[in-house]
Amino acid sequence: LSANETMLFVRSLFDYNPEEDPAIPCRQAGLGFKRGDILQIVNQEDDTWWQACRHGDSNSRAGLIPSRQLQERWASMSMGNLSGLRRSFRLGRRGGRSGNVESKRKSQEMGGATQTPTYLEVAPYCREHKEGRRLVLLVGPSGVGLSEMKRRLLLSDPDHYGVTVPHTTREKRKQEKDGVEYHFVSRQTFEMDIVNHKFLEYGEHRGNYYGTSLESVHKVIGEDKVCLLDVQPNTVQRLHTTEFKPCVVFVKPPSIQELRFSRRKATLISTQDMTKLTKTFSEEDFEDMISSAEAMDSQYGHLFEMVVVNGDFAMAFNKLRAELEKLETEAPQWIPVEWTS
Ligand code: 5GP
Repeated sequence: LSANETMLFVRSLFDYNPEEDPAIPCRQAGLGFKRGDILQIVNQEDDTWWQACRHGDSNSRAGLIPSRQLQERWASMSMGNLSGLRRSFRLGRRGGRSGNVESKRKSQEMGGATQTPTYLEVAPYCREHKEGRRLVLLVGPSGVGLSEMKRRLLLSDPDHYGVTVPHTTREKRKQEKDGVEYHFVSRQTFEMDIVNHKFLEYGEHRGNYYGTSLESVHKVIGEDKVCLLDVQPNTVQRLHTTEFKPCVVFVKPPSIQELRFSRRKATLISTQDMTKLTKTFSEEDFEDMISSAEAMDSQYGHLFEMVVVNGDFAMAFNKLRAELEKLETEAPQWIPVEWTS
């Protein structure tokens, strides 16, 4: 390393293609990357253009990338129409299109400001034996298939993965066992546990409480297993700590055309063999799924380490499984730098 080079590593939170960036001083000198790539920033002396190389790519030469400051500035000015704005900036015009108002509105409804996705500073992580395994949090809009992904991962390797046993106040069914499907507790106990902050999350369904306790997560980690949880995005924030070092997987729907095709096909197969009831999705369900995914991405995208598009379930599941395996077998893992200090 020369005197000016740094050992700063970042995970990029957006795609960048210098070929499509009219603002870059020299296109040939640019470095393209995809969201999720790990970049080593080798020079940050310039306020607007940093120099970086892609980590893990031996052919990657150092190239120019927009600095955090520049990217933030572009993003706040254009709200999602970066290349259009950059072009108009170069041509000496001001402003740009007003951007994706719908997803901004949705994200405000979910209670929070939109984060500008730029770079997340990361550091290599090697698990020491006394530490528990990292949690895997599956997050995505309702109907995208989170619980099925979780169920299939568990089935694929039950010695490696574990799931929590939730608490409920509903009556135990005949075939159920306390501590297996649920911990069955009284309303009074459940409400006391809420007051004592024992739950990561809880909700009511048909007049009964259901919830996941922090203790149930610790139990799985204590068995030296990877704890799989499917959670709401606000729970991700609560678990995004040094203690759990979660790998957050965003499961997102494909395009609306693919949704119509793949979900309809799934319904047909199930009606033929009549073994299980499948939900038939309406056009409105598809639109809700997509806009809710966009809102989650714009508000919590900086927390997502992996993105899996669930168009074809088998393909999405195989990708998720392979990526999770790679994460544990290929050193190093990259985690937010504040988790390593
Ligand atoms: P069941 O009573 O048929 O076992 O479950 C009914 C519903 O309870 C599930 O479909 C799910 O929506 C909800 N549920 C089950 N476990 C939990 C949990 O840990 N937290 C929350 N919030 N809801 C749960």
